[in-house]
Amino acid sequence: DSSVCAPLAVLGRDVTVPLVTGGEVTYAALDYAASAPALQRVWDDVAAYAPYYGSVHRGAGYLSQLSTDLFENSRTAVAEFLDCREDDQVVFTRSTTDSLNLLAAALPAGCEVFVFETEHHASLLPWRDARVTYLDAPRTPEEAVQTLERALADREPHGPALVCVTGASNVTGELWPVRELAAAAHAHGARIVLDAAQLAPHHPVSVRELDVDWVAFSGHKLYAPFGSGVLAGRSDWLRAAEPYLAGGGASRKVARRPKEAGGGVDVEWHDTAARHEAGSPNVIGVYSIASACKALTEAGFDELVARERYLIRKVREGLAEVPAVRVLSLFGDDAPRVGVISFVVDGWNSSHFAAALSAEYGIGVRDGLFCAHPLLRTLLGAEAEEPGECGAPEAAPGEKSLNAIRVSFGAGTPDEHVERFVRAVK
Ligand code: PMP
Repeated sequence: DSSVCAPLAVLGRDVTVPLVTGGEVTYAALDYAASAPALQRVWDDVAAYAPYYGSVHRGAGYLSQLSTDLFENSRTAVAEFLDCREDDQVVFTRSTTDSLNLLAAALPAGCEVFVFETEHHASLLPWRDARVTYLDAPRTPEEAVQTLERALADREPHGPALVCVTGASNVTGELWPVRELAAAAHAHGARIVLDAAQLAPHHPVSVRELDVDWVAFSGHKLYAPFGSGVLAGRSDWLRAAEPYLAGGGASRKVARRPKEAGGGVDVEWHDTAARHEAGSPNVIGVYSIASACKALTEAGFDELVARERYLIRKVREGLAEVPAVRVLSLFGDDAPRVGVISFVVDGWNSSHFAAALSAEYGIGVRDGLFCAHPLLRTLLGAEAEEPGECGAPEAAPGEKSLNAIRVSFGAGTPDEHVERFVRAVK
């Protein structure tokens, strides 16, 4: 299986870790939904660029010019990857969280926000200065669309409104009906931002086809290293907003105001993406995100999607053979999903279960409430308890599960990793 998706080979397949039972084993990284390993191609590109990097937009020096070209060309690579419209802007940020906070800071006055309570906290929380309507968890994709339509129909028309929705759940892996939600939003004069943090690494995302207004995603889940993210989409709200950060790079012209005119400074801000990218940007992070986008655009998603489907089936069939395991799902067993599966095990605390997978089998999975507390309460029902910070409450061994276990995978996951995982759970 190592030849599968060869252009998407990843680093870190031969890291060994010690086992408490003695000896060592090749680490099975099954937490791609938290952070995926970097592609070999991304690492090679970064290594080739490393001797030359310099600060961007800093004049005529050769290295600055070179870095500026790479930085600006990176926008084109991301725009192609997302199939953006001609006049969309690609703004580089630190992460999905940063991108959504940037958009939240750029909302026009009086903007209403509609968001499902099932969202990751990064999509749920940035809108705290707006009037937010939290929508109840739907149990089918159709119900999601109906719920949104009803909520939008109830609002006073004319004012600006934004819907924020996640394309693929970081808990259940289930795909949300993004195109239909976008159509509903637009039919009611609202705009829509897609949180593609979990969708983009597994599935093609076309801004045009989905007809979403913005897309946000993170490099570290898309086979690039940490530190860079993207907000891509309509430029009008972004151009009209105050800069996200004030400082060099965002400003075109700054001049002291005469004392007679009250003093202070007059500032002309850029109206390009630079408006929201003040300071010295993370050129390596941006270059690596663009490299990952190019690798995925060139390889296409067909092989990756087919491979993931095969691995999903293997995991789900394996888990189905363990009566104590309950897989978490909002939309039901047959719902289309990406390679992200969460479950609980009767009689086990999920954190202890995950710790055992790591210590005894060298398998890295995520345990906790996955920064989606309201969703986990819905999925776990009476079992859910007040969590600690984004994670596990304390519980004694053998106590009932208060949180869940998540296994996730993607490019470069060998059969052996998921087979070992299923064996270990059994
Ligand atoms: N949205 C979703 C659906 C996610 O899974 C995550 C990360 N777990 C985020 C947003 C936030 O991404 P980041 O931590 O890179 O900002």
